[in-house]
Amino acid sequence: MIAARKTKRLFAFRVPDGADLYESLTVFCAKRGVRCGWITVLGATTEACFGYYDQKTHEYHKKVFREPMEILSCVGNASIKDGKVFLHLHATFGDEKLKAWGGHVFLGTKVFSAEAYVRELSGPPLKRSLGKETGLSSWPSCPL
Ligand code: ZN
Repeated sequence: MIAARKTKRLFAFRVPDGADLYESLTVFCAKRGVRCGWITVLGATTEACFGYYDQKTHEYHKKVFREPMEILSCVGNASIKDGKVFLHLHATFGDEKLKAWGGHVFLGTKVFSAEAYVRELSGPPLKRSLGKETGLSSWPSCPL
């Protein structure tokens, strides 16, 4: 059964300049007890680390951009993995030529300036578990 969810709390804040994007959002959610949430971010980075998941090898291929980038769009969620708050973030970044890059966000994405929204949702937190076929730690699937 899918739980219908409502917004419990909505936070809007500036991520500290120079912070690691993934780490700072994780700490923000953990400190405030956000165990089920929806995240969006826009802004800019001085470095960005993101990647692509190879569905055959079940490995992430990371790429690091050590140059200023715009965070054109970053979307993610907060849920529970191994009993702790875990964030899953994807982002599209834009370079100085206005070319877009994007992927799964890793530690190593340093904020130049960023504005974030964290929407905490009601209901039980979604818990991640390893899927043997995907190799990913995912939410439980549900019958539609
Ligand atoms: Zn991902």
